[in-house]
Amino acid sequence: MPFNQIWGQESAITILRNSLRSGRLAHAYLFLGPEGVGKRLTALTLAKAANCQSPPEEGESCERCSSCGKVNSLNHADVILLAPEGEFIKIDQIRDLQKRLRYRPLEGGRRFCVIDSADSMNEAAANALLKTLEEPPDETHLILIASRPHQLLPTILSRCQWVKFKPLFSGHIVQILQKVQGMEVEKANFLASLAGGSAGKALALDDRVDFQKRLDWLRAFSDLSGKTTEEIFEVCERIAKEEEEVNDLLELWKLWVRDLMVSKAQGEDRKGSSLRLINHDLRPKVSEEARNYSFDRLDSLFTLISDVQKSIARNANRQLALETMMFEMRKN
Ligand SMILES: [Zn+2]
Repeated sequence: MPFNQIWGQESAITILRNSLRSGRLAHAYLFLGPEGVGKRLTALTLAKAANCQSPPEEGESCERCSSCGKVNSLNHADVILLAPEGEFIKIDQIRDLQKRLRYRPLEGGRRFCVIDSADSMNEAAANALLKTLEEPPDETHLILIASRPHQLLPTILSRCQWVKFKPLFSGHIVQILQKVQGMEVEKANFLASLAGGSAGKALALDDRVDFQKRLDWLRAFSDLSGKTTEEIFEVCERIAKEEEEVNDLLELWKLWVRDLMVSKAQGEDRKGSSLRLINHDLRPKVSEEARNYSFDRLDSLFTLISDVQKSIARNANRQLALETMMFEMRKN
């Protein structure tokens, strides 16, 4: 993927492309920003552009030459990608890297070492890497990727040039999900709304949140007032078994209440397109159901669900917390 197809990181890419064009790439960069916003992709694209054999313009990759092909398939001898083995990046991984760096770049161009999740280096690994940062080999650029800079040694932070990456706009995530994953627009919109600016999180949610299950759970919300006490006990017992299941349910219900509030606040919007709903595909059902609630009631439901989320995060009994919440919600 060339630079111009990486969405939402224009300022970071401009800095890097200008440095590449003027021959002033730093020896060590720290790519800093939330997870899943394109830091690794940008690092590999920089390595590709710097080694491209027929760049369409200076500082760009052609995506067709053998060098670009090797970077894309992670087979380029001078583009080294390091990631945690298990929980941490360990000292042996850094030592292996340092052995490779003793020789000149094998393909005669610039060498890039991309250290993904650099904030998961253990202390021994970080201290070992410091030596390389103090005396970087010729024609070699290190790119450390991190979302938690406070986990890195101050001496490492001070030796890198920082490049900041931002959370992505929802619209960019929708584009990524549609174009890269071939996802239908309703689902892409929904996942993007949940993803908090991270395309990586949206993709992970796609694996976890079943789009059909969303409809079942939203129906369960709407049907709650007609449920018997015994039925509520049964539902809570079933859901409470899985922590992720509980988290997904609470998040979905909270977003549903939020949509009901938005619908109520905007009133009967005939155009519809101006409604900024997360469950955009269910717009008629949102406006219909919103009529059943007062704004104050929705406000208190939102607080109720948020409080249950917090108490479950603090290890409260999941089943008990769900039961209390659902009995309170049924009162409507
Ligand atoms: Zn190329």
